[in-house]
Amino acid sequence: MHRLSNRIEAIEESATLAMAAKAREFKSRGIDVVNLSLGEPDFKTPQHICDAAKKAIDEGRYFTYPPVAGYQDLREAIAVKYQKENGVPYKAENIVVSNGAKQSIANVMLALLNPGDEVIIFSPYWVSYDALVRLAEATPVLVKGTLENDFKVTAAQVEKALTSKTKAIIFSSPCNPTGSVFSKKELQDIAAVVLKHPSVLVISDEIYEHINFTGERLSIASLPGMFDRTITVNGFAKGFAMTGWRVGYIAAPKWIADGSNKVQGQITSANCSISQRGALAAITGDLAPTEKMVKEYHHRRDLVYNLLKDIPGIKSNYPQGAFYFFPDVSSFYGKSDGTRTIKNGDDFCMYMLEVANVSLVPGGAFGEEACVRLSYAASEKDLLEAMKRMKESLSKLK
Ligand code: PMP
Repeated sequence: MHRLSNRIEAIEESATLAMAAKAREFKSRGIDVVNLSLGEPDFKTPQHICDAAKKAIDEGRYFTYPPVAGYQDLREAIAVKYQKENGVPYKAENIVVSNGAKQSIANVMLALLNPGDEVIIFSPYWVSYDALVRLAEATPVLVKGTLENDFKVTAAQVEKALTSKTKAIIFSSPCNPTGSVFSKKELQDIAAVVLKHPSVLVISDEIYEHINFTGERLSIASLPGMFDRTITVNGFAKGFAMTGWRVGYIAAPKWIADGSNKVQGQITSANCSISQRGALAAITGDLAPTEKMVKEYHHRRDLVYNLLKDIPGIKSNYPQGAFYFFPDVSSFYGKSDGTRTIKNGDDFCMYMLEVANVSLVPGGAFGEEACVRLSYAASEKDLLEAMKRMKESLSKLK
């Protein structure tokens, strides 16, 4: 008689969070699990950011509700960062600061989408895109990039998937889960297709912008004609090791920023005042701690790449950013260790958790059943141990 809404029945629990919970449960039973399932930096938030937050508490001026879209100085600082670093002429009026980039994306979906609208999601995709489109009662249209093309969706594929109902396309670059990074040329080609279709918007998730090993950074909003057509999503969680602080933002044409602000004003109001003071220190401060973390991720990317190459049956691209591998493990499907048969990515990850005590996330949650996601935001010691255990337990599958 009593039921949850169709809207909620239609979406799944976040697979990454579910897998992390399972790993924690194993750990609580005393099992030494190496957890490579969460997209969470293993570094501490840089000290100058913590100091700014402490100072804000001590000053006693930040205990009341902040403006819904975020403090004016933080929005201005974000706009200046985009002007200087990314070449996009955002102003404070274009910025809405939210409770993590996850909320930023949710706000945008709720502000823009009507039932029947389609959103093209580049697949493999970050888990919540699909769920948030459905939560807004619109229709996700998955367009698939292949491992052979570094998992990147091409402009030609986008063109083919566009219909009169397409409201937006969404992707992350650097990408969670594949680590691929669009080149300038690839983004120009995608922009050219979008510009041919005046009603289509781009949601460009740039939350991993700092964790990019290509040496080339480009915001699609900076390309000619794209300012009015792009919602740029970003946040502090990854580049500044601030996942728990929950600060994300959009930079978007004013009418979309106003719409997001309206959603946020009814659902949560502004995000935490003290976190915003920390975020201000992050965005106006020294990037040296970020650069140090990125150097470390770069090193681990190479380490894990070489170890993965050494495991027969695993195929991987060479990620250029973020902190994930998304190897194709489908050659193990149908194989058995004598007691159980691996049928799919879920079975593969369960086998890894129970036999190798390594926690990964099944690729199905990201739109690709053949793959699993491995986060290398873990210490070198843990990564070496995890790869050794994986190799050993996979060799038992025949
Ligand atoms: N976008 C992508 C691509 C992500 O990987 C994540 C975090 N896993 C988010 C958005 C959400 O970030 P936040 O923690 O700021 O909500």
